[in-house]
This record gives sequence, structure tokens and C-alpha cells, in this order.
Amino acid sequence: MASQNQTSKDILVTGAASGIGFATARHLATDGRRVWLADIDAARLDAAAQSLDGAVAVPLDVCDEAGWQAAVETMRNDGANVRAVVHAAGISAAAPIAETSLSEWRRIHAVNLDGAFLAIKFSAELFCEGGGAIVHIASASGMRPTAGAAAYCSSKAAVRMLTRVAALELKPRGIRVNCICPGGVRTPMWQSMDFFQAAVKRLGSVDAAYREMETQGGCRFATPEDIAATVAFLLSDAAKLMTGAEVVLDDGFTLGG
Ligand code: NAD
Repeated sequence: MASQNQTSKDILVTGAASGIGFATARHLATDGRRVWLADIDAARLDAAAQSLDGAVAVPLDVCDEAGWQAAVETMRNDGANVRAVVHAAGISAAAPIAETSLSEWRRIHAVNLDGAFLAIKFSAELFCEGGGAIVHIASASGMRPTAGAAAYCSSKAAVRMLTRVAALELKPRGIRVNCICPGGVRTPMWQSMDFFQAAVKRLGSVDAAYREMETQGGCRFATPEDIAATVAFLLSDAAKLMTGAEVVLDDGFTLGG
């Protein structure tokens, strides 16, 4: 199982047009590996793929089962021998429960949870009868509650349990399934949120807005590269005994206090 992961030349990364997904694709796009970059944002996906040697763009909405089937067929027809999948696609939103519509609740869960379910289902199909490794980017927000983030927190808590069930089911096939639970990470996910944009305007820069959040929360934010390095470890032979595990990278956020 482990050596297959390490020698695999084909790796699929979802959410690869931005943030953690792109940093992971860039980190893994070495040693002649072919990295398949999947994302719903076609324009940014093409730019991301063009910036990396040996990268291939796969337009994909991770909530779309038929889209996954088509992507798997495309990759197979192109001779892909995928033994590693990193599922980083995700969305966030901030609103109290009383102000969250059912459709907004479902939208967050569709991308974060349905997407993770389909990523596991179709990774297992991509690996055919061989072993492999799957890494989900869950969140420390799925471990420690945050007021105003019910949909996000509950979707990520569910991804943690899904990871464990999948690890158990897929162990007989030599497929390892793990997740990473980052605390804050400096990515465009924050920059699209209203309160963050207001902080940027008030403080004069994106960096100052991050620093204010770090001071208020008492925890440093990670860089996308910090997360990418941990993904690479989880895919490697060094992690051959790790499955169903959660790696928390949050500078102590989940310790509370
Ligand atoms: P990001 O916004 O920079 O990147 C997310 C990517 O996912 C984007 O390219 C986006 O187009 C893509 N995406 C969204 N919906 C999709 C869909 N339906 N199908 C395919 N692609 C889709 O954000 P990021 O911070 O890099 O987030 C990556 C993952 O890390 C997410 O699952 C997020 O929840 C998780 N995470 C982020 C943080 C953080 O502080 N940034 C913390 C913990 C966990």
C-alpha cells in the first residue's frame, strides 16, 4: 500500500485553483508527478494549471455525481494511474442560525460534506483494485464551536466522522483515509467574507486584518504551504500506518482558553 502511494505519478487535488488546494498541488508537482487540478472556477483553474509543470485542469463541481463520473473517465482515458487524492474544495459562510436559510445551510453542506462523500466514492473508483491515500481538508471549526458558523462547523465535524468510517471501510483495499484540521489559514476564503473586507478597509491591508484576527483569537494563522507540507507527509510512506487520523494544525485553537 505505502510504496504505491509514494511512487504514484498521478495525484488528484480538488479546490486546486486557490488557497490550500493550489499550494498543495504546487508542493506535489515535483519529481515528474502529474497533478490533476480540479475546481469549479474554470478561469482560475486554467491559470493555476498553466503555472505548474505537468499539471492538468479538470473542471469539476465536487457536489455533482455525474461530473465526478465524467472526470474519472477522462482521467482514465488519459492513462492516469491515480493513487492519491487530496480533497480541499470547500466554502465558508458566517451567519447566526436564526439568520441562516435552509437553502444556505444546504449549500454549505452540499459542497463541504456531499463533496467529501463523492470524493471518497470516486477516489475508490479511480484507485481500481489498487491501494491509495485520500486526505481531506476538514477544519478545527469541526472540533470547536464558533458562534455564527453553524453550517460550516457542522459540515466539517461530519467530514471528520466520514473520514473515520471511510478509513474503516477501505482498509481492506489498502486505501488510507485521513484528514487535516487547520485553524486559520491565510487564503482567499477569508478575503471573500464581508467582515474581513470591512477589517481590511478599516486597517488598511490584508496582512493587518489577519494580524488583528490572530491577536483577537490568540492563535497564529497557518500559510497554505504549512498545510501542503502536512498533506505531503500524509500521502507519503512515512505515514503508512496512519488511517482514520486527524492532524490538527491550529496553534492551539481547539485547546480553547
Ligand atoms: P479557497 O477559497 O482559497 O479555496 C477553495 C477552492 O475550492 C476554490 O478554488 C473554490 O473555487 C473551490 N470550490 C468551491 N466550491 C467548489 C465546488 N463545488 N466544486 C469544486 N471546487 C469548489 O479556500 P481555502 O482556505 O484554500 O480552503 C480549502 C479547504 O480548507 C476548504 O475545505 C476549507 O473549508 C478548509 N479550511 C480552510 C481554512 C482557512 O482558514 N482558510 C481553515 C480550515 C479549513
